[in-house]
Amino acid sequence: MRKNYLLTPGPTPLPPEVCLAMARPIVHHRTPQFQVILKEATEGLKYVFQTKNDVYTLASSGTGAMEAAVVNLLSPGDTVLVIQGGKFGERWTEICKSYCINAEVIDVEWGKAVDPSEIQKRLKANPKIKAVFTTLCETSTGVVNDIEAIGKVVKDTEAVLVVDAISGLGAIDLKTDAWFCDIVVSGSQKGLMLPPGLGFISLSPKAEKLSESSKCPKYYFSLKAAKKAWAQTDTPFTPAITLIVALSEALKMVKEDGLEKIFLRHKKMADATRAAVKALGLELFAPSASSDVVTAVKVPAGIDGEKLVKTMRDTYGVTIAGGQAELRGRVIRVAHMGYIEEFDVIIGISCLEKVLKQMGHKFELGAGVKAAEEMFARKA
Ligand SMILES: *Cc1c(COP(=O)(O)O)cnc(C)c1O
Repeated sequence: MRKNYLLTPGPTPLPPEVCLAMARPIVHHRTPQFQVILKEATEGLKYVFQTKNDVYTLASSGTGAMEAAVVNLLSPGDTVLVIQGGKFGERWTEICKSYCINAEVIDVEWGKAVDPSEIQKRLKANPKIKAVFTTLCETSTGVVNDIEAIGKVVKDTEAVLVVDAISGLGAIDLKTDAWFCDIVVSGSQKGLMLPPGLGFISLSPKAEKLSESSKCPKYYFSLKAAKKAWAQTDTPFTPAITLIVALSEALKMVKEDGLEKIFLRHKKMADATRAAVKALGLELFAPSASSDVVTAVKVPAGIDGEKLVKTMRDTYGVTIAGGQAELRGRVIRVAHMGYIEEFDVIIGISCLEKVLKQMGHKFELGAGVKAAEEMFARKA
């Protein structure tokens, strides 16, 4: 027998209420019953996105919503600016290239947040830039970008601001309207406490205007079709009915707690995790911009990072994430996003201690758990 704990930056654990909602008999989607659910879910999404704009739910993972943003806004030959400080920033560039869009890149050192004045400089230097693509939480490095400051820079230009909030939405603050985000995309399996399979996208009037001239090929991800269907409280194709039922359930939980309280809980989990790893003599990978979503930690010299993750998972059932791409083996990532509470963090840190000890890292057993407990006691 083994008990499993999921502390990864997607998928994240599911509340039992959400699991049970998915066990209900399926309903047909072209019915008044489902329309009620779709409406509730969409209203709930607007609350989480903090927007008055339309939010569409796509049957895809988060990357599908990223692709939808690109193909609905732009045309082949357009020029855009991509903030690239990790694997998910790179994904914007790759999608743009697939549609023959010229991606100018701001290469941000992995582990650092982008400097908004750099974006301002690049937009001034090239007024042809039609869109700025950025990431709220760069999940590969744990970095959080200052979207509010970026929004201030982009709003007075012709360019639209597109934010990948796949791993941050519903965990940390993102004010779509107040921060002038024209498109925000997200996915179901991160902060929203759902299984993978849904992508979300919101569009401001500025983004809708640009989309009218877009010539990129699109069919399944056409937001014009989504808008037309939504006018009848409908979707253009068969929606992921079961997941939308679960979404409406999860969003009820979100509304009950309220965003402010949820953001504070995430901050508390992150503060405790950061204090714990420091107490174990480990270093944060992104000390200047560490998000409250996922904590990336440098693997200490002499420790095999991939083996550490594998042992925690395969021997003790505690799944955290390793590093991606150039960070493979060099960092571990402990997520504290979505349906996570104090004692989940304690379990994660406790298991990390156990395996680090076995692997020969020097520290006082219990130091990490103690630091986390002290942080929780302070913030109770
Ligand atoms: C998880 C993640 C993605 C990818 O989403 P999928 O659902 O795997 O397609 C993109 N961007 C960020 C920031 C993410 O955390």
